[in-house]
Amino acid sequence: MRGWRQNSPCAQAAFCVVMSGKLSAGLVAPVRIRVTFTYVEIHHKRYVRDREPQECPVCHFGVQPTENTWSLAESKDNGHILEIVFLCPRNECHHLFIARYRRDDSGGVTTSPHGNARFFRLYESVPAKPRLVDIPSEVATISPSFVEIYSQASAAETYSLQQVAGAGYRKALEFLIKDYCISFKPSDEALIRSSTLSACIRQFVDSPQAKTCAERGAWLGNDETHYERQWDSMDLKNLKDLILLTVNWIHSSLLTRKYEKDMPA
Ligand SMILES: [Zn+2]
Repeated sequence: MRGWRQNSPCAQAAFCVVMSGKLSAGLVAPVRIRVTFTYVEIHHKRYVRDREPQECPVCHFGVQPTENTWSLAESKDNGHILEIVFLCPRNECHHLFIARYRRDDSGGVTTSPHGNARFFRLYESVPAKPRLVDIPSEVATISPSFVEIYSQASAAETYSLQQVAGAGYRKALEFLIKDYCISFKPSDEALIRSSTLSACIRQFVDSPQAKTCAERGAWLGNDETHYERQWDSMDLKNLKDLILLTVNWIHSSLLTRKYEKDMPA
């Protein structure tokens, strides 16, 4: 099956998905649902693909990309993978990129007049450019290191280096918290520098909301650097949410302090 490729988009057809449906008394029966699929056909076998990408990995705009050529490629880890070349339709972008799909039959068996079809689910689009990280200037001024480390962690995540990204986000949070605390308690700089992140948050962060978010961010951050995970149901997205919430509360605190200073009561 090596080297199958075609210089035209995948075809479309309507056929059935067979899924498990529950009857009364716990009995299970097959349920047929008619759905339109996009597929490629090789040696009379159909390879059904998942949806097309909804975001361009280069400009990060939501788009309906134009499909071009496809190939069924070999992959050491995933068996065959389906690769499809798409074009970003935005005039400001117009980059080509490759969407990758791997075999996944967890949603049921797809049947057609040609027999069962293999289903391929979208899992990544490449090449991907890191997103620009938008941090308020007041926060970036007190902690340029946070912006740099967070941007590098974000780039690692874009390149699917999840393990490195998690440790990077944890480090970014520590620089943000310590730089913020030093900015308003410079006399305690030595103590703040030598404290653990958790101790620093407990002892020096004045905003209760920032403290709430930073504490939880530190818990998830520790999961990214320790052997055992404590928060199995949480992931990188939750860690980023908590870090960006901390950024927002710190931003509010900095602005409030500025206006208290500029306009004393
Ligand atoms: Zn684009």
